[in-house]
Amino acid sequence: MTSPHLASPSLAARYLAGYPPELIAQADAMYREGRLADHLARRYAELHEVRSDTALFDYVQALKARHLRNAPPLNFVGYDAKLRVLQQALGTHTRRTQVQGAKLKTRREIRVATLFKEAPAALLHMIVVHELAHLRELEHNKAFYQLCQHMEPDYFQLEFDLRLYLMAMEHPQ
Ligand SMILES: [Zn+2]
Repeated sequence: MTSPHLASPSLAARYLAGYPPELIAQADAMYREGRLADHLARRYAELHEVRSDTALFDYVQALKARHLRNAPPLNFVGYDAKLRVLQQALGTHTRRTQVQGAKLKTRREIRVATLFKEAPAALLHMIVVHELAHLRELEHNKAFYQLCQHMEPDYFQLEFDLRLYLMAMEHPQ
């Protein structure tokens, strides 16, 4: 049953679930006033050149070698045009364990939504850091976010802004 007093969640509330209400209200106001895309474009003016799967593979490998030298090797890295919605745009990380004869074989893949080909450099960096951290921690727990922050000290601000970016991209004004 729905109460007439309960408004459905605002656009920002859907992208910023779990964030403080005043930040959500600010984001909704910026969007309503048509300032959100501009705000992000000014804050993140630097783009990147990681446009192909090969370039993404090299980019991921370089970060992995720097921060997670002992993590297991990746079997696949690439852009994926099928990843769209918010949960998926944070990328997917799969660890499939298959039984092959008497051996257990684990496949590790990092797929990044194709929209990040055109995204600001800092936001691509954040997404890749997030996915790499999953090589060590499957859940979004404290250890996971500590690892993200170790790789990218500005991680929390970037994840917040990434949510705003997706909101602006998926609901252009
Ligand atoms: Zn995740």
